[in-house]
Amino acid sequence: MKVVLEHVTKTFPNRNKKIKDDVIAVSDFTYEIPDGKLIGLLGPSGCGKSTTLNLISGLLKPTSGRIFFGDDDVTDISPEHRGIGLVFQNYALYPHMTVAENIMFPLGNLRGKEKMSRADMRAKAEEIARLVQIDPYLDRKPAELSGGQQQRVAIARALVKMPRVLLLDEPLSNLDARLRLQTREEIRRIQRETGITTIFVTHDQEEAMSISDAIVVMRDGVVQQIGAPQEVYNDPCNLFVAKFLGTPPINVFAGTVRAGKLYFGDDCVLDVPGVSDRDVTVGIRPEGFEVDAAGPMHCALSAIEVMGRDVSIVASHESCQSASIRAIVDADDVKGLSTAVRFRLKAHKVDLFDPATEARIPVGE
Ligand code: ATP
Repeated sequence: MKVVLEHVTKTFPNRNKKIKDDVIAVSDFTYEIPDGKLIGLLGPSGCGKSTTLNLISGLLKPTSGRIFFGDDDVTDISPEHRGIGLVFQNYALYPHMTVAENIMFPLGNLRGKEKMSRADMRAKAEEIARLVQIDPYLDRKPAELSGGQQQRVAIARALVKMPRVLLLDEPLSNLDARLRLQTREEIRRIQRETGITTIFVTHDQEEAMSISDAIVVMRDGVVQQIGAPQEVYNDPCNLFVAKFLGTPPINVFAGTVRAGKLYFGDDCVLDVPGVSDRDVTVGIRPEGFEVDAAGPMHCALSAIEVMGRDVSIVASHESCQSASIRAIVDADDVKGLSTAVRFRLKAHKVDLFDPATEARIPVGE
């Protein structure tokens, strides 16, 4: 089921009497979420992710714009009638019910022709429990399960009516690091197996990048960029997106372009054909540096941190906008380094931005 947002805007009245304007939580959001895909809504706290999800679920009504599930306009339809499954950060399971009863609960509300016998409900709950791999625990109470298992029960409960759209709001936030990793892979698997169009809200870029078919990066209610995770990482449309994606984060420098060459201070670090003479903000991914004794970029070396196969070089340069540069290089490349390091830059890992608008500046003739 494709989900279409057409110029969706949501404002809230501002409770601060000194400010007249409304809070714009989501601004003019237009996007067609393809059928059967998993989409990650991503951005810092307050950027409008949960509001967008709640608009899709019907818990909130847009101030303007329309929302479609397939060809059905659902804008004025209540959440119960939209055919959605919802999973929240706090699993919100009924503590006095067993796992099976929790999963069956939505089926008990079915009326008329859809009404199911208790045996059918149990069979359906068992089928879904197998899908999310919690079938051994059907007769336990939620308190007798780990956080990750409880979240799977919540997912099973959201899936039991086979929703048209599955909506997940920070579903992994309450889990520890290992469980997060495991559960996010589970979500991916379950989504693939069921083929249900899924929208997943997170502020964790790594989480969104690892499981999404496409990510939507938001800032202050405004969509910044939509695309496949690697595409957005490789070609960020602005400095905000470039900084938001990637760990360690992109390194940011103040540079100058003169005669098609990029300078950091006196260091002429890269050819940037097609860019006119100007000041630029430069983003370099940690994997964009190559250690080279004859490299054009002269840095002071602060530390070398070994991370298994790769090492992380912590260095500094006067043009860098933060105290240190972080470069990820091969372990063999750091032999013999002591107080200084010289880098050559990989052109495809370097992005130029307008210092005023922060929009990306295209490079190339
Ligand atoms: P978080 O990651 O912290 O949950 P978010 O990206 O999900 O953040 P939203 O909860 O969608 O952000 O909020 C977007 C903006 O709308 C914020 O500035 C928030 O303060 C505001 N907002 C959300 N709900 C309301 C409301 N009911 N009344 C007034 N303002 C609201």
